[in-house]
Amino acid sequence: MKAEIIAIGSELLTPFRQDTNSLYLTEQLERLGIPVMQKTVVGDDRERLKAAFGDALRRAELVIGIGGLGPTEDDRTREAVAELLGRKLKREEEVVARMEERFRARGRKMPEVNLRQAMVPDGADWLPNDHGTAPGLWLETDDQRIVLLLPGPPPELKPMFEELCLARLRPRAPKHVFAHKVLKTVGLAESDLEERVAPIYREYTNPETTILAAPGQVEIHLRASGADTAEALRRAEELAERLEQALGDYVFARGPETLEQVVGLYLMMRGATLAVAESCTGGLVAERLTSVPGSSHYFVGGITCYAEKLKAKLVGVSPALLRRKGEVSAEVAAALAQGVRRRTGAVLGLGITGVAGPTGGTPDKPVGTVHLALADAHRVKTEKHRFLGDRERVRWQASQAALELVRRKLLK
Ligand code: AMP
Ligand code: MG
Repeated sequence: MKAEIIAIGSELLTPFRQDTNSLYLTEQLERLGIPVMQKTVVGDDRERLKAAFGDALRRAELVIGIGGLGPTEDDRTREAVAELLGRKLKREEEVVARMEERFRARGRKMPEVNLRQAMVPDGADWLPNDHGTAPGLWLETDDQRIVLLLPGPPPELKPMFEELCLARLRPRAPKHVFAHKVLKTVGLAESDLEERVAPIYREYTNPETTILAAPGQVEIHLRASGADTAEALRRAEELAERLEQALGDYVFARGPETLEQVVGLYLMMRGATLAVAESCTGGLVAERLTSVPGSSHYFVGGITCYAEKLKAKLVGVSPALLRRKGEVSAEVAAALAQGVRRRTGAVLGLGITGVAGPTGGTPDKPVGTVHLALADAHRVKTEKHRFLGDRERVRWQASQAALELVRRKLLK
């Protein structure tokens, strides 16, 4: 059984509202072993709705429509689906009674317009809504396809799906389940990663492999199916292990952990502490590290220093060095790292300086040039990077590379 989801509402076609219900439903359906093959967003327009449901029903055995079941004229899902399937709409008195009771409990009389919500297509089952007025609708077509219409508000949709739909779908769902696995990498470009792993994952149709690239981080997502969770997991893990071997320590997580969490974990395990002196990233590295609960055990603190005076006063970077080498240089990054380490007494000191842009670049130090340095008691390691993108992207990638520099140090 394959599913499609149709999110309905003109507001979902504006920049202001997003379809989030389908994310929830996709997760629920995956657990049942029903993959979602396509999602469509349609405005409240009867003809477009009919076309969307008609198309989806040609491809999928389960079509879930979300929203457009409200009492007002602009909600047209019920009518569109009834018309498409050639079903007459009949008023269901029990639904009317339930809605009246709902209003009565709040000391109000039910407005006439709500009667529209009691209209049920021929042969459809209505699903009581304990959290709102619009009942859900469960229809089956002549060729045994299911059309499920659910109310839009998440607090109504979720309990209705879990309490009334899951149990009905389960016996119709395929006899397999999915398991997911993720490998997160840092420091490898998407194409370099692809070159290493494609020959391996191409051998498999199960699991399915998806590569997701974000600035400074590439993730490999595996979805395996099996007769039961154990089998699906075994399949996912087999491939994950082979991919991990091909990628070595570019892999920083085998699950949902973030890079800052992993760095924190390593610092904790080594009993080490870290302090940072940031120019260019403006405290982003400190912010990421301290977003992890418990980070005060290993993160001593950070200094955001842009002015020459502050670099000198708080971190001890000599003004002469700044003038000789320029603010954005390996030497200044090293001085920041060593200085913050010395001044705070941390085991490790991290220094960052760079040109975040969009202005301030020069031919020999273009926008995106970033110098990083990591100092311990004995030595200081520096790295030069050139990141592409706007200011936000440069800063994010710099923070990513800085965290990676710490992770690499602690790997050994
Ligand atoms: P409706 O059933 O179309 O009247 O939708 C009622 C409300 O539910 C909307 O105003 C939205 O706030 C919310 N809603 C509708 N569809 C979705 C969706 N796909 N994802 C998240 N919220 C939704
Ligand atoms: Mg709507």
